[in-house]
Amino acid sequence: MRYADVIIDVSIEKLDRPFSYRIPERLSGIVCVGSRVKIPFGAGNTEKKGYVTAINDEASYEPDKIKDIIDVVEGSVEAEDRSFEIAAYIKETYGGTLSQALKVVIPAKAKVKPVEIKTLVRKMERDELLALAFEAERKKQTGKSRLLNALAENDRIPSAWIAGKLRVSASTVTSIIKSGAAYYETSSEYRKPDVAEIAKTEVHSLNPEQSAVVDTVSKDMDEGHPGTYLVHGITGSGKTEVYIRLAEKTVLSGRQVIFLIPEIALTYQTLARFYAKFGDRVSVLNSSMSPGERFDQCERAKKGEIDIIIGPRSALFTPFSNIGLVIMDEEHESSYKSESTPRYHAREVAKKICSLQNAAFVMGSATPSIESYTRARAGEITLFKLNERATGGELPETDIVDLRKELSSGNRSIFSRRLKSLMDDALSRGEQIMLFLNRRGFSGQVSCRECGKVIMCPHCDVPMSLHGSSKMVCHYCGEITDKPSNCPSCGSGYLAAFKAGTEQVEERINKMYPDVKVLRMDKDTTSAKGAYDRILSAFSNGEAQILIGTQMIVKGHDFPNVTVVGVLAADLSLGVPDFRSSERTFQLLAQACGRAGRGEKPGNAVIQTYQPDHYAVKCAAAHDYEAFYEEETAFRETAGYPPSLHMLCIQLFGTNEKKTSVLAQELAGVIKSKGRIRVLGPAPANIARVKDYYRFVVYVKDPDTCVLSDIRTASEDFFKDKDMGSMFVQFDLDPMNTI
Ligand code: ADP
Ligand code: ZN
Ligand code: ZN
Repeated sequence: MRYADVIIDVSIEKLDRPFSYRIPERLSGIVCVGSRVKIPFGAGNTEKKGYVTAINDEASYEPDKIKDIIDVVEGSVEAEDRSFEIAAYIKETYGGTLSQALKVVIPAKAKVKPVEIKTLVRKMERDELLALAFEAERKKQTGKSRLLNALAENDRIPSAWIAGKLRVSASTVTSIIKSGAAYYETSSEYRKPDVAEIAKTEVHSLNPEQSAVVDTVSKDMDEGHPGTYLVHGITGSGKTEVYIRLAEKTVLSGRQVIFLIPEIALTYQTLARFYAKFGDRVSVLNSSMSPGERFDQCERAKKGEIDIIIGPRSALFTPFSNIGLVIMDEEHESSYKSESTPRYHAREVAKKICSLQNAAFVMGSATPSIESYTRARAGEITLFKLNERATGGELPETDIVDLRKELSSGNRSIFSRRLKSLMDDALSRGEQIMLFLNRRGFSGQVSCRECGKVIMCPHCDVPMSLHGSSKMVCHYCGEITDKPSNCPSCGSGYLAAFKAGTEQVEERINKMYPDVKVLRMDKDTTSAKGAYDRILSAFSNGEAQILIGTQMIVKGHDFPNVTVVGVLAADLSLGVPDFRSSERTFQLLAQACGRAGRGEKPGNAVIQTYQPDHYAVKCAAAHDYEAFYEEETAFRETAGYPPSLHMLCIQLFGTNEKKTSVLAQELAGVIKSKGRIRVLGPAPANIARVKDYYRFVVYVKDPDTCVLSDIRTASEDFFKDKDMGSMFVQFDLDPMNTI
């Protein structure tokens, strides 16, 4: 008799361990490690699902109390061996249950039926068909006659043609099949993501800085000891070119490549370069794909039909058999960290996967995260610098404009005189402009000009944003209300929006330059599938001269005709109460300014700000990463933030403010009793209430992540015995976002 250890699908820590089940005779040889099975659970023998994590010859429990596995879940996808190891690592490092971690690492859980391709195949001779067509025409059955004529000229007609070009209805096709003129043939094929266009790309010979990266990584791979590498290269320095070379080398050695890229930067430009090089052997995963499309890409990877996958953090779990290289572009991006339990960071998990597979891990960025740069400095990561733009050309000349001075000299517009004059010049020369507003956040908030009251969301402690002229939206919970006509506090009729949202910028531009075509890119204009690429290609084709947008416009695309970049209000992101706000501001400003002058023409950038002396602003304008890094690490060390200390953020949510606060107090007490550990809080979170849930945070800091794991386990144990009611808790190691 054989027994299986099963991890049951639950999100309750109490049940987060394997349970033993017997494999009945009829399932022997069918159930294996990784199988998804149905099992009876608990006193009532409720049917649950779970994954088999191990198979044993002996029962680990009294054999007569062990229940049988009911069945294998039909249509389920088996977990790979590797998945369990990675899931265990994620659970251990970031918390949550093993079954939650397994859900993350198994990229496609259910089999999805393949797409059926139908083709109409002709059965009669040409003359016969033409005669029938003539007959149909006489009877004024024009659709039927069209299809019969088409069949007379073509042996096979794809069904897409019939409904599309020929505009023939399904019932007409049925009648033709009944008459014996043709039959349907079905075949299935994998869904493949469509790629807008495949660019012809030139092959460049690498410059010495690029060669150094390719040579070193290749050599380490050949010698069987690949490591972790950080390519710190300014925008346009040829990092993508380096990735392509390394990918090519890996594929030639028979291994596979995972190319991670933030979802937002997953544009046709990057894809086109990979497709041009690797054709059908490369595929993509992205969040707008259907489950069927995702499943098919995983199947293609398992069967060895593709060598390279490009996608956001979830692409890390593509079931390749022999991963040789993981690339993480824009390594500093916060979207590499998951915002739901388990809150894993793709950088750490990628490192784990690379060590399991003996693969190389290459990260790249123009503005590396403080974490990675610190590791590189300490020699844990090999650092490379690409200091030159690959196509020649210079980084743009960047001016900082003090908005207070603008105002005191009488300029009340959202455009400084410097920016306005650069824009006038660029437009007159037929060049393009990008205007960047670095946070959609609270930009549209409405306040009373008499008493200062800000209109807040009724469920969250955040201001509502004005959309159009009469609707207000909460970006945290989605609440939509009408804009009140009078102040709810003092009754004044003078309520107005703080005008600096992307829509408002567009309005101003339209007034200032009525003949200039403008495109706007933000969450509202890109919500439809494909809208993002459409706007970018329209701008790229020169259909508009000005592109206005939020941070989504600053990510890795090349617009050679852009000579002016304006950052309208750099301070919006500096004002965010988060220890990473300077880092994020520096990154955004550096990336935004890097958009100007990517072609032959030199570029100019203007940063408008109320804090012209802030080091994030000054270092970005001077394109000086090192100087920024020095200032920022000094701050992190003094204040005890990552990477100098690791930080565990424990958030407690509850609808009853008092109860939640009391429980948070108790928790902090328990943690403090564990010894000499730095504990901060509990305190209400920066946004103290979201969707009617009050939030309290406790921060625990330590140089050792293992100590923090132990604290997390101790906290989980503490909550196990509590009556939580509607309260719940979230753990976040080294959070990316503390607001
Ligand atoms: P990054 O990814 O660092 O922004 P890219 O790889 O996109 O840089 O390179 C920027 C531009 O320079 C691209 O148009 C690319 O084709 C070109 N390029 C890259 N490497 C070279 C090279 N060695 N010689 C000439 N042009 C290059
Ligand atoms: Zn008022
Ligand atoms: Zn809300």
